[in-house]
Amino acid sequence: MKLTDAQTRVYEILEHAAAGEGLPDDEIEVLYAVDPLSREAFAIRHDAHLMSLEATNGKAEIHAQIGLNGSPCGKNCKFCSFAVCNGLRKKLFELTAEDVKRYCDLYQEQGANLVLMLATASYPFEKYLEMANVARSVLDPEMPLLANYDDVTVERARQLKAAGIDGAYHAVRMREGVDTTIPVEKRLQTIRNLREAGLSLQTCVEPIGPEHTPAELVEATRRCIDSGANSAGCGRRITVPGTQVESRGQLNDLQNSLNVAVYRLATGLKPALNCAVSTPITATSGGNLGWAEVGLNPRDTAERTENGGRGNDIAYYRWAFTNAGWEVLDGYSQGWKL
Ligand code: SF4
Repeated sequence: MKLTDAQTRVYEILEHAAAGEGLPDDEIEVLYAVDPLSREAFAIRHDAHLMSLEATNGKAEIHAQIGLNGSPCGKNCKFCSFAVCNGLRKKLFELTAEDVKRYCDLYQEQGANLVLMLATASYPFEKYLEMANVARSVLDPEMPLLANYDDVTVERARQLKAAGIDGAYHAVRMREGVDTTIPVEKRLQTIRNLREAGLSLQTCVEPIGPEHTPAELVEATRRCIDSGANSAGCGRRITVPGTQVESRGQLNDLQNSLNVAVYRLATGLKPALNCAVSTPITATSGGNLGWAEVGLNPRDTAERTENGGRGNDIAYYRWAFTNAGWEVLDGYSQGWKL
């Protein structure tokens, strides 16, 4: 079969990517633009899968999120069920300290590799510190505990660390400042603040929808790589019915898996953890990190995502990874501190 110039270019880029040292922007853009049903897309996913297996020695990780509250949030990110502009969450709903203890115990029993506590920007900072202390009181000291919270100053980042938080998830979201009311620079400053306080960073190119162009994905990918995060990748937007972006639709598994794979090759072997696994397809496309979810979730409108919402438990991710030929790491996350 004679290859077209465009196909030949993809295979040349895959040869560059095989060194595991990442790719320049123009090559990343070519890969993001590939037809997800083409032979080249499957080759990209194949190579990314092998690279991820190598990066973590065949061991996938399951990180576990606890959503602390579901109160309406005035930052108005159009894709989020908590955003006031979407009108989907009318009342204050917060987990109690007992809930947090119970979820931490459960995650630990089930073998989570890392625990993260998510709260909306409207959640009081002092209360967040209190909940960090509660979680720390039941988690093993070696269990990494991460925060996903509002933008913070260096002082607040240091307070998080003093309360037992080891790292943070923070991202400049797709079309930040356009589909949200938060300026890009504010998100970047928080990332710098978190790093300055000695917290490790997880980030992601998210939430990706069908409207985002390869050029936008490249810009976000480069930003993630430059952030020095210890895990990153690509995550699709989950459509929450009733949100302002509902009509834009959602990427299917094939396109999402291609994005996950491209990120792996774009960043190379480091960082070792590449997200986000949602299915065995993403777990065979360079994804080696999945997120279990309980409590409140910006991607649905349930009071507890594990009861009728979209949140998957640790058993689901074990199933997804083992069906894709992975072992799941037994013990605490190795990737979060690399
Ligand atoms: S994504 Fe975060 S900041 Fe934006 S509306 Fe939702 S809770 Fe608020």
